[in-house]
Formats: sequence, C-alpha cells, structure tokens
Amino acid sequence: MARPKSCGICYIIPENLNGAELLDALIARIKHWDERILKLIRHTDPSTVGFLKVKSSTPGAVWRTGPVTLLGDSIHAMTYFRALGGNTALYDTGLLVPQLTAARHHGKSQTAAVRDYENAMRDHGYEAVRSSLSAMLRNVGAGRPLSAVAAPQ
Ligand SMILES: Cc1cc2nc3c(=O)[nH]c(=O)nc-3n(C[C@H](O)[C@H](O)[C@H](O)COP(=O)(O)OP(=O)(O)OC[C@H]3O[C@@H](n4cnc5c(N)ncnc54)[C@H](O)[C@@H]3O)c2cc1C
Repeated sequence: MARPKSCGICYIIPENLNGAELLDALIARIKHWDERILKLIRHTDPSTVGFLKVKSSTPGAVWRTGPVTLLGDSIHAMTYFRALGGNTALYDTGLLVPQLTAARHHGKSQTAAVRDYENAMRDHGYEAVRSSLSAMLRNVGAGRPLSAVAAPQ
C-alpha cells in the first residue's frame, strides 16, 4: 500500500489511495483520539471514502459586461468551511432574477441589468470566498498559513 509521507510540516497523502488506504492514513493521523471515535471510523465502509481536495478561487475578477454572465461556483468557488457555496449560488439567483425581470418588463437595458447583478454578486460572492478561506485556515491551522500546519508526530 502507498503510505502517506510526512514532509516535516505537513502530511502528503497520495491522491490515488483507495478507500481502505485513505481510512488507514486518517487513523494513523488521529490515533491519539478517543478510542470510541476511532472505533466508529474503523467501521466506516471503505467504499464510501474518497479523496477530496479543498479548493478556493481567487476573488477579485472584474470583466466587461456582455451577453453571458456567471453565478455560483463558476465565479466564486470557495472552501466549504462556512457552508456558504450553495447558499451563495442561490443568493446570486435572487439578485439576478429581479434584474432580468426589470430588463424584460420595466424597460431597463439588458446590459445595465446584468452589470448591476454582477456588481452586487461580486461584492457578496468575493467576501464569501475570503471568509470561507479564513474559516478553513482558522479551523485547520489556528490562523497560521496552511503550509505551516504541523502534523502530529
Ligand atoms: C464537501 C462539500 C460540502 C459542501 N457543503 C455545503 C454546505 O453545507 N452548504 C452550502 O451552501 N454549500 C456547500 N458546498 C458547496 C456547494 O456544493 C456548491 O457551492 C454548489 O453546489 C455550487 O452550485 P453551482 O450550481 O454553482 O455549481 P454545481 O453544483 O457544481 O453545478 C454545476 C453543474 O454543471 C454541470 N456541468 C459542468 N460542466 C458542464 C458542461 N460543460 N455542460 C453541462 N453541464 C455541465 C455539472 O455537472 C453540475 O451539475 C459544499 C461543497 C462540498 C464539496
């Protein structure tokens, strides 16, 4: 079995481990936890365990409004440490629909409607990306940069 390597300051877990190997890698890392929790994890069906990379977009992009716009993860993918990604996608919809209605029924130009949506969406969407990244860093790194998070020896 491929074994997780320690790089001194962090664990490097190969992405190609199967579920059972991932469970072993996890248990090796948390073996100091309470035995009752470890028992629960040992009984996890390995076929339900997978490797998941946490990714965050870089907030800040601004573009010239055109006939195509963006919402949800396509523009502001974020870590799930604040459970905001899906909620923010829905919030985008709530911003976009009234703008499209204004363009369709109240004489607002389509470009102005989409631009107003994009400005509002960028404000709250990029803030959600930043706060979700901060939440992850606080959670796993107690405020330190992720690359400096020490693995338990
Ligand atoms: C582990 C985890 C936990 C999470 N927990 C939460 C939570 O508790 N609360 C929360 O609010 N958010 C949570 N999220 C985030 C949330 O799942 C996403 O932010 C949300 O699904 C984004 O919605 P979306 O519609 O923008 O994108 P998606 O849900 O990714 O939808 C995009 C769709 O487009 C399809 N697609 C892609 N390319 C093409 C193509 N070329 N042609 C046609 N279709 C295509 C995809 O198959 C997909 O169905 C979590 C995410 C993860 C990974």
